[in-house]
Amino acid sequence: MSVPPAVSDPLVLSVAVQTPAHSGLDGLLSYTHASPLPPGTLVRVPLGRREVLGVVWDTAEAADTAPDTTALRPVAGVLEGLAPLDEGWRRLVGFAARYYQRALGEVALAALPPQLRDLRPEQLARRLRRKAAADAQADAAPPLVALTAEQEAVRARVAAGAGPFLLFGTTGSGKTEVYLRAVQAVLEADPSAQALVMVPEINLTPQLEARFTARFAPQFGAQAVVSLHSGMTPAQRLKSWLAAHQGTARIVLGTRMAVFASLPALRILVVDEEHDPSYKQQEGARYSARDLAVWRGRDQGAKVLLGSATPSLESWHASRPAAEGDPGSGRYERLHMPSRIGAGALPRVRRVDMNQQPRGTVFSAPLLAAITERVQRGEQSMVLLNRRGYAPVLYCVDCGWKSDCPHCSAHQVFHKTDRSLRCHHCGTASRVPRACPGCGSPDIVPLGRGTEQLEEQLAQLLAGVQRPGGGPVRIARIDADTTRAQGALEQQLAQVHAGEVDVLVGTQMIAKGHDFRRITLVAAVQPDGALFSSDFRAPERLFALLMQAAGRAGRDADYVAREGAAVEMWVQSLHPKHAVFEALRTHDYEAFAAQQLAERADAALPPFSYQALVRADARTQAVAQGFLAAASAAAQAATLPGVEHVTLYPPVPLTVQRVANVERAQMLVESPHRAALQRFLAAWHPVLHTTRADPAHRGLIRWLVDVDPLVI
Ligand code: ADP
Ligand code: ZN
Ligand code: ZN
Repeated sequence: MSVPPAVSDPLVLSVAVQTPAHSGLDGLLSYTHASPLPPGTLVRVPLGRREVLGVVWDTAEAADTAPDTTALRPVAGVLEGLAPLDEGWRRLVGFAARYYQRALGEVALAALPPQLRDLRPEQLARRLRRKAAADAQADAAPPLVALTAEQEAVRARVAAGAGPFLLFGTTGSGKTEVYLRAVQAVLEADPSAQALVMVPEINLTPQLEARFTARFAPQFGAQAVVSLHSGMTPAQRLKSWLAAHQGTARIVLGTRMAVFASLPALRILVVDEEHDPSYKQQEGARYSARDLAVWRGRDQGAKVLLGSATPSLESWHASRPAAEGDPGSGRYERLHMPSRIGAGALPRVRRVDMNQQPRGTVFSAPLLAAITERVQRGEQSMVLLNRRGYAPVLYCVDCGWKSDCPHCSAHQVFHKTDRSLRCHHCGTASRVPRACPGCGSPDIVPLGRGTEQLEEQLAQLLAGVQRPGGGPVRIARIDADTTRAQGALEQQLAQVHAGEVDVLVGTQMIAKGHDFRRITLVAAVQPDGALFSSDFRAPERLFALLMQAAGRAGRDADYVAREGAAVEMWVQSLHPKHAVFEALRTHDYEAFAAQQLAERADAALPPFSYQALVRADARTQAVAQGFLAAASAAAQAATLPGVEHVTLYPPVPLTVQRVANVERAQMLVESPHRAALQRFLAAWHPVLHTTRADPAHRGLIRWLVDVDPLVI
């Protein structure tokens, strides 16, 4: 029998705080406070010798939980003026922590803007008092375009149904316009309703923000649209976050982190390019923002609209028409927009069989001729190669020395621009040696090629070509190396948009989402690497990338029609008849998906099974693998719940097994049932902690679990 606390007894609160990673704690610690605080209240609490931000998770009666409240420390301060984080947000965080096997406190605190962690209550109070700038009279709303029949049909379905919807729409079919209409309808129906719109890349948010602001500021006010992504300053992020939390922001546009925004009146979630791998967080809590968006929508009764020209095979499979006896079918409602607006056809796909080309050819003669023709007509070309730097490795012709990274099981990449060797895994950089460090021979040569080399070779190959404006052919390169400086990417993209670039060379960065108007040719010069990767998702990613790249061509349908321009996508391959390129040739995502899903079903791979990876990092492979093997043996010996439906594979080294002198191993855990895998992982978690504490595994640096891993 619990004894009601005496009036003077302090209340005990459990508070979510960020505990050290792998402390084994769930991140909920008990504190006392004189008066009750509703769950979701933001507080400052002592932790060790520091004072940290926390979120009140529960209020318990002192006598029930901690008989000795004198051992507990009091809450240090309450962030006044901020409404508690609502139940929906807390459920989302709780689910994410459970599902992705992380401490609740870690997920909760990581979901809040960093500046909120550092502000003292009085600083925050001052921030909140600062009056929001009066709504500017931003211009009148631009007139709405008339929807195409396909868009209208989709709009009507989304307005009428509950979803989740998977909008399968060709690049340029007008998906964004459909998102705008869907959001508008929801916001008009309820004056407090909020919308969350996610995009994969930071560099796509400004474009989208401009489009949403132009459309919605006149109707809902200049403060109605805010962004949330990691490219913002901490102050900007806090401002957006507060606006969303307080309800002044009606629309939040953001990258994956935005899925955790506090949105008390969330009624619709849009996930653009839902197949994009960057929705998966690759450190800390390894969540999928796409999957959490679907969960959050269902949990809060909000509409969910996923969109893509090349849906993930998971979403495609979930949206197969509902059929009796097929329990997973019809989970999403599939909507289709096959036509490009303005009848701009998708590019004609031309495949070059590189077996027929001289060895070492970078640009085959027909591709070079096609690019030359574009330059002469004043049109733009885009050349894709997914490898930056000049060459992936330097090589000594005499003794076979290679530019290996001293700290990783990887080569250091040759960067010609600054004559450096750089490891793309650990960042180690050094000057290019004058002579071979192995034998002293001066004969060291680059092997293979990267974007720098492509840019250089194109400049040579196109040197004599005349462009309509006169002057040399203008080649630009966009990759992680050229865009490091703040604002560099925007500036380079602006040059492409302004027509100041004839040929754009780059990594996948340039394939995503950009609405370049003058591009009539896109080329993938060396896409074969992904065809025979050990990662079963590599072909899916390659196909999506190539389709997306193809979608950059011929976007100005009027120009194409007027000038009779040939719009082309070129692929150079040693395997031009590969299923990926066959499907690309006919722009047939559905055929590709069917073929891939059949293979996955045969091999019992996702979406026909569910996976988790346990990763271990240690000083030696033996320790890393030993830990995993011991944890696996312990799981089987203890017959943990769910284990009968789970396959535990043997530990293996990662593809790049050593990075920065750390040896990495992983172990795959697989089950045909998601629930069984979840049950098993939950029960296994404490076992992993116990195993880690065993002195046998001294030398283990860390371990982590990746649920629904995207990269195997
Ligand atoms: P997606 O997101 O499917 O690639 P967008 O929404 O960007 O396509 O639309 C492609 C182009 O077509 C854009 O320039 C857009 O302004 C235009 N557009 C979209 N819907 C219409 C419409 N109903 N009428 C005319 N133009 C449209
Ligand atoms: Zn040598
Ligand atoms: Zn390295």
